[in-house]
Amino acid sequence: MAERVIPLVDQRHALAAALPTRPVAATGLLADTLGRPLRDLRISVTDRCNFRCSYCMPKEVFDKDYPYLPHASLLTFEEITRLARQFVAHGVQKIRLTGGEPLLRKNIEVLIEQLAALRTVDGTPLDITLTTNGSLLARKARALRAAGLQRVTVSLDGLDDAVFRRMNDVDFPVAEVLEGIAAAREAGLGPVKVNMVVKRGTNDHEILPMARHFRGTGTVLRFIEYMDVGATNGWRMDEVLPSAEVIRRLQAEYALVPLEPSAPGETAERWGYADANGQHAAQAGEIGVISSVTQAFCGDCNRARLSTEGQVYLCLFASQGHDLRALLRGGASDEALASAIGHIWQGRSDRYSQLRGTLAPDSAAPAGRRVEMSYIGG
Ligand code: SAM
Ligand code: SF4
Ligand code: SF4
Repeated sequence: MAERVIPLVDQRHALAAALPTRPVAATGLLADTLGRPLRDLRISVTDRCNFRCSYCMPKEVFDKDYPYLPHASLLTFEEITRLARQFVAHGVQKIRLTGGEPLLRKNIEVLIEQLAALRTVDGTPLDITLTTNGSLLARKARALRAAGLQRVTVSLDGLDDAVFRRMNDVDFPVAEVLEGIAAAREAGLGPVKVNMVVKRGTNDHEILPMARHFRGTGTVLRFIEYMDVGATNGWRMDEVLPSAEVIRRLQAEYALVPLEPSAPGETAERWGYADANGQHAAQAGEIGVISSVTQAFCGDCNRARLSTEGQVYLCLFASQGHDLRALLRGGASDEALASAIGHIWQGRSDRYSQLRGTLAPDSAAPAGRRVEMSYIGG
């Protein structure tokens, strides 16, 4: 087998976020160079994780010597909330907390309470969700709900215990994640979504067992194409199982009907289980496929990502962020922070997935310089 070369570079290069000469007022009407609004903010609250999924934080790289961020580098909850308020003033309606493993961040409920108090430009509460590996969810679900979290997405790559333990690479049992999902449902954090990253040859035989398990439970299972994010996972196209193939395999057992997207900029293509008349059987539920590799959805991508140490990334595949922490800690006013965010978004032209097929292998954001998903969040 060819030796796998893992580039060991620090991807955390940031541009200083400049204050524009002409202020960009927060009107909620911000658009980037392709006319895309800003609606969705993903906040990474830690770069650490208790799992070592090989497609995200492979053990060989994320070992005991890995230089995780020191505590002082992390944004405090007050700093996160202050920045989030400016993003919301520019039109953000949905906030997703992620990481690393967000439930490892101490007192995360306190941050959720602060974010839940924010209001959109229309005066409505934000949609606040969290993506977790589920390992600590059984313990924390009730407190998260009480703090104002509305929903959770749980990552789960298979039901077979041996397959799951291999994929998380820390020997974590599947039963505890299933307990976490049940606890989230009981706590009112539903509808729970379950994300399964599909790697051909590793867990694609788990597609049907997962569908059988979650069908009719109210939990929405979504299949994600294995992506070439970061610089360390040794991604190969032949390990990607296209969503079209996932749908074909499901259709061998179940009749499916396409459903409308639930919101503009929605990443998942939705399919409903059909009844005998070919209509969506609502009680059987739905599944989703996220085709980040085979079907680009950059055209209406309205997502910004805030890294653990306060850098804004405009694309999952970006190699550079814009440092807001320096402004924040340098005493910038709320207006100045909003202006900097507005200016950064107005300059955005990223559409990596759309260009992926047409790019020379090493153009755009070279894999060796791309930022890790565990750092900016999924
Ligand atoms: N630790 C949490 C979790 O696993 O849910 C949150 C962070 S994780 C980076 C967010 C999501 O990114 C997870 O659903 C994970 O499966 C997905 N992910 C990570 N690396 C990926 C890759 N190379 N391709 C596709 N999805 C990936
Ligand atoms: Fe951790 Fe989530 Fe990455 Fe897995 S996907 S290593 S659980 S951050
Ligand atoms: Fe958005 Fe970048 Fe993904 Fe395209 S590749 S959908 S711009 S995050």
